[in-house]
Amino acid sequence: MTENPILHGIVLSSMPVGEYDRRLSILTKERGRISAFARGAQRPKSALVAAAQPFVTGAFTVVEGRASYTMIRAEVNEYFTELRGDLAKTCYACYFCELAEYSTEENLDESEALSLLYAALRALVRGDMALPLVRVVFEMKMTYVRGEGARVSECVRCRAKEGPFVFHVRSGGCLCKTCAGELFDEEGRKSYELRTQMVARGFYNLDASTWYALRFIAATPPGKLFAFTVSDTVLSELREVAAAWYEEYNDHRFRSAEMLAEVETE
Ligand SMILES: [Zn+2]
Repeated sequence: MTENPILHGIVLSSMPVGEYDRRLSILTKERGRISAFARGAQRPKSALVAAAQPFVTGAFTVVEGRASYTMIRAEVNEYFTELRGDLAKTCYACYFCELAEYSTEENLDESEALSLLYAALRALVRGDMALPLVRVVFEMKMTYVRGEGARVSECVRCRAKEGPFVFHVRSGGCLCKTCAGELFDEEGRKSYELRTQMVARGFYNLDASTWYALRFIAATPPGKLFAFTVSDTVLSELREVAAAWYEEYNDHRFRSAEMLAEVETE
């Protein structure tokens, strides 16, 4: 008889199934993102009630079925109860989990995505970084974890390493001004427009500190990522770039992002 595997990870979502059970999505170190049933997890006396909730981090013993897993035991390391008591932080955490669910797959090595999610949830709890900054760092880093991040250290077209650069979403990162100018001429636009803040859809003339922040996000491992602050200008540029990037490359509407948008405008 083979032993039941113990998977380490974070519960991303938890849906009631029928009267008694729950269906969980869990991002695990060993098997990537999996689906698992938690039988009886809606019964008040079940040992799985507390574990079958979003953000719960721990070691989950599962039985492998043909199409999904069944969780039979959970050893919880962290409940992240601090997040549940704060509406704004709950919204951010739900969004991070939904984005992680969308960005990961079963049976792939998703350990970096798992580290990123854990670090982001810890940053929400600590509260020493502005929440919208935690969000934008999480969003941008996730693109690198997926191997689809923007190139921010050299011109995407000619590989020039010397700036000044323009960030161009559709090109996939930074363009030197020569290449950006050529692209602009190709698109029939005037090159002087490059000097304005946002010159056309998808072209961004960024502050030097915004470039620095983008390079830091690209190069830094998840565990050391959530440890800086930026000016309001840099934050708003990062947010614009991240939003444009996701709009261009992800044809997906995140349910939790809509709720988060309401929290962020308050
Ligand atoms: Zn170039």
